[in-house]
Amino acid sequence: MPHCYVCDEVFASSFLSTLEHHEPQIRQLAETYRQEYQLPPISDNVARVCRTCIRILISDNRNSSDSEYIQWKVPRPRNSVLCCVCGRGPVGVVQLNDTARVQIYVDTDIYIGPLARVCWTHMDGEFLQPEEYNNLKIVHRPVHLVGAEVGLFLQNLREQALKKEVIEEKHLTNDDFVTVTSLSKSHFLELFTYCDPVPDGDRHRTVKKKDLLTFLRKMRQGLSDEFLRILFGYSTRQAVSLAVSMMRRSLMLRFVPTRVRRDYSDGVHSASCHFVCKRTVQSESHKEESNCNY
Ligand SMILES: [Zn+2]
Ligand SMILES: [Zn+2]
Repeated sequence: MPHCYVCDEVFASSFLSTLEHHEPQIRQLAETYRQEYQLPPISDNVARVCRTCIRILISDNRNSSDSEYIQWKVPRPRNSVLCCVCGRGPVGVVQLNDTARVQIYVDTDIYIGPLARVCWTHMDGEFLQPEEYNNLKIVHRPVHLVGAEVGLFLQNLREQALKKEVIEEKHLTNDDFVTVTSLSKSHFLELFTYCDPVPDGDRHRTVKKKDLLTFLRKMRQGLSDEFLRILFGYSTRQAVSLAVSMMRRSLMLRFVPTRVRRDYSDGVHSASCHFVCKRTVQSESHKEESNCNY
């Protein structure tokens, strides 16, 4: 089956047109996009392009000379009901919120439009997990921002700029991780894969990497909730208390039972996991004995 030269999807021949029949600028743009999508050179010298790609090429070629459009790094175009990171969906896919879109722009210089959707499994609370940034397939395209989106985006950027400096996982080096949590960054990320949503009434409450950092910091040094609130940027002391409690419950669901059954004989990794396991169980018993409000 023939492939589209630009998006590399397979199509019936009737959905493809020969690239040679289009203007030189369109052919050049198709070449540029193919390179940006990091597709290998093709041996077939009769390159063909699908209807969707040709529509995009024609409009992008026209818009690139329009001063109302900005040439920006954006995720490669996909069906809007699919995840803009991995292309899966529409089941398990949610709309990417405005705060997350601005955070991605601040961290990566990639602009994601207001209708973009992502798998909820790529999210860490309200933000896209930084590990997913590298999975975004990027292309430089002309983008036109309408007034409402400009206002919203600038407002979110302002809020981001005014935010107090707090400890965030994505800004910590490996050494910082060991200092803050007693775990290396890779062990921390592995531990987070065990942090399942916690049943809470008739719904499940997800836990974030920030909650795990806070929990480990508390386990390691027993800092007060008020101090942790300032350190990690929680809104109230009660929010810290809730986050620590949810994280403890989450770890007790799967991590602790799994780890307790294991033999801790494989060196540093086990030792660090053993530390978390032991402290989680201790904090759980302490909570039950004294009804203390972490
Ligand atoms: Zn295509
Ligand atoms: Zn996805």
